[in-house]
Amino acid sequence: MNEKYQIVIGLEVHAQLLTKSKLFSGDSIAFGAEPNTQVSPVSLAHPGTLPVMNKEVINLAVKLGIALNCSINQHNYFARKNYFYPDLPKGYQVSQHTDPICIGGHLTINGSNGEKKVLLNRIHMEEDAGKSIHDLEENYSCIDLNRAGTPLLEIVTEPCLHSSEEAFLFLTDLRKLVRWLNVCDGNMEEGSMRCDANISIRPVGETKLGTRVEVKNLNSIRNVKKAIEVEAERLIQLAENNEPVLQQTRSFDADKGTTFALRSKEEADDYRYFPEPDLPAFFISNEHIEAIKADMPVMPDVLQKKYREDYGLSQYDAAAICSDKENATYYEQLISGNKHYKAAANWMLGPLKAWCNENSIEIPQFPLAPVSIAALIDFTESGKVSFNVASTKILAAMINNNAGDPSEIASSLNLLQECDESTVVAWVKETLANMPDKVKEYHSGKKNLLGLFAGQVKKLSQGKADMQLVNKILTEELNK
Ligand code: ADP
Ligand code: MG
Repeated sequence: MNEKYQIVIGLEVHAQLLTKSKLFSGDSIAFGAEPNTQVSPVSLAHPGTLPVMNKEVINLAVKLGIALNCSINQHNYFARKNYFYPDLPKGYQVSQHTDPICIGGHLTINGSNGEKKVLLNRIHMEEDAGKSIHDLEENYSCIDLNRAGTPLLEIVTEPCLHSSEEAFLFLTDLRKLVRWLNVCDGNMEEGSMRCDANISIRPVGETKLGTRVEVKNLNSIRNVKKAIEVEAERLIQLAENNEPVLQQTRSFDADKGTTFALRSKEEADDYRYFPEPDLPAFFISNEHIEAIKADMPVMPDVLQKKYREDYGLSQYDAAAICSDKENATYYEQLISGNKHYKAAANWMLGPLKAWCNENSIEIPQFPLAPVSIAALIDFTESGKVSFNVASTKILAAMINNNAGDPSEIASSLNLLQECDESTVVAWVKETLANMPDKVKEYHSGKKNLLGLFAGQVKKLSQGKADMQLVNKILTEELNK
């Protein structure tokens, strides 16, 4: 990237809320229904109908606002944003205008330059439009109004991001957070989380913002990153050629890896906002906000810190366990009632994860309940079987038997580790007696032969020897 310029990015993220029904009507918002089957006259604002606020939307907005350190605006009203578009059945979108429900706030990201607070401008509530489908019929476009009226939160950042990497991290963390809170499913491919990127450049040292372009149709976080890179490069080329930047809305073509102009935005849009006359203004009380606060789950960053500092997990393991709430819940269940924190992390991210990957499922869907795995971990930690035997043979038997007692399985399969000292001494003696040359080499200084001896003992015991005991006795026997 050119070092003469600074890239400036502000993101607008639309998150579809995980409510059952629409923002102002009882219509379902379930994804994938037959087109135009979830559209009542209220969603179309037919004469004689009146919208009714879905209270759950307020709860979800406040919940996200608290998690993002916003101040909650208690006096709210909706406004009509008027514009014409075929998929906007009312001819206006009900949105918030001057008083969004959440003001300010930030999300801390951890980039290659360390921690950074990404500042938010606001979060406001609004209804979604329908969907225009252009590739179904040859000579005309189709409209599906099922989505019209679906509740959205629009999360708007300040123009404070300065690289595609920062935008990528912000969106990744934001998606994780909305999923963690059950606010939105964060699925960018299905369009339940959408992002527009506003991009400008300015000479390094300049404080005034440059003319921006807004890039739309970014259906994955990776594409947001790519689009920013392509667009910033285009803006730099314009600047280098002394050509002006036109304030435009552009679209990203992921196949070609380019952006193209959709419309120019030289005059400010005139939406003729006015307060929505059919919906009363509403007040969110302190008690209401406190009740939502009291009901908030522990945040992923707080949990990660606890896992690192109190449980001794690595940064990597802590982050992997907290990648989503179901994962973290599964881990919490593994360690409820015992202190095998590290062992549980190793089991979860090792054999359990591997089994899930092979079977294309996620850890929360693992066929054995966490209590069964916790019992197996406990049994293994007691030293009666090796991790190796436990994570292959016993785990497999438990999956086949739909759980079962690890100790019984181990005895019935003859897998119990041999901890009896005299038995292990006999194995060690036999092994060393079979390898006199190697023993000589050991005594003349080749100390790393210990591993070879240990391996032979393991073989002789058919994998049942307690290897800690083997190593201890080997050292004793060799140094006699
Ligand atoms: P609108 O798009 O409705 O005009 P705003 O002016 O509030 O709304 O800005 C929308 C987004 O564009 C915000 O995320 C803001 O940070 C970002 N933005 C505004 N000006 C610039 C700029 N010059 N360069 C980059 N991003 C910008
Ligand atoms: Mg905009």
